[in-house]
Amino acid sequence: MADKNKIVPGNVSGDFFVDTTCINCDNCRALAPTVFGEYGDYAGVKKQPENDEEIHAALRALICCPTGSIGTHEKHDIKAAMAELPIHIDEGIYYSGFNSPKAAGGKSYVMLHAGGNWMTDSPKFHPHVTNWLDEHGGLRYIFLTHRDDVADAQKYAEKYGAKRIIHREDLEAQPDAEIVIDGTEPVQVDDDFLIIPMPGHTEGHCMMLYKNRYLFSGDSLTSNYYRDDGLECWGPLWTWYSFDVQTESLEKLRKYEFEWVLPGHGRQWHVGMPEMKRQLDNLLNGAQHEPPPDWKIKLAHVEAYADYMERSNQPIYAAKQRKIAEEIRAQMAI
Ligand code: SF4
Repeated sequence: MADKNKIVPGNVSGDFFVDTTCINCDNCRALAPTVFGEYGDYAGVKKQPENDEEIHAALRALICCPTGSIGTHEKHDIKAAMAELPIHIDEGIYYSGFNSPKAAGGKSYVMLHAGGNWMTDSPKFHPHVTNWLDEHGGLRYIFLTHRDDVADAQKYAEKYGAKRIIHREDLEAQPDAEIVIDGTEPVQVDDDFLIIPMPGHTEGHCMMLYKNRYLFSGDSLTSNYYRDDGLECWGPLWTWYSFDVQTESLEKLRKYEFEWVLPGHGRQWHVGMPEMKRQLDNLLNGAQHEPPPDWKIKLAHVEAYADYMERSNQPIYAAKQRKIAEEIRAQMAI
């Protein structure tokens, strides 16, 4: 529950507030853009909701906030906002909602499919999600883009007998996954689902192309929600394996056609295929000239990520990140 004694400085006073447990995942700004803004390292209320529609959107954000950082001074009935989750995106694709702190607030999606339903990454294991899945035919597969965002995938797999899919290089995150992807070649699962290994963010990071239209892009490719003007890749501060390898992986996307990008973090992105190709070209050209990171900031990120890996029960990768931190420290001392 959000703490009214820890309200983010700058938060516009009134009913809704954000507290300093916020991890700045952007979810509330995406779900209620007229209400929530950014205040340094936190989200905050930039304008109190003024009508039913804005209250409804703000309550939806409150429900989906991974850290329970959004609170209200007044009592609200959240049933109507809850009933809207998961949120329909296009065809049989839904944003699951209920983002998990175990995935740093990353987004999970569900695809309703005649051959059995799919989930990408995982939301909190929440009765509202399981009731909805029960009503819509359960789950057959859970595609895990990479080790950071597995959250409660095991619980969903156990409840539905679903098969979890993850790359061998990130298997530490889900050691008893039912389907393990090896190497760097794409793997077709059923007719509509193409899993594409895309190392870079982590060694085992993968994307999935669905129906040659929808790219579930994990933590390598997203859209620029600050400028709202196109595709963006994750920068060197956020690539735990290698930014250069990530760029090589993204080159592979030139041969695919898609018009939606559905990222783990950041905003979903929908443009026509020619425009998507143009934006991908821009992105790849920019990535070739990406300057090295500020090593002091990179060191802080790597150390924080190593701690996150420890908390996520992935000691081998935590140790690997600590070694990288040592190497950065040694490089900075030269
Ligand atoms: S959804 Fe929650 S954690 Fe994410 S930015 Fe908003 S308040 Fe912060």
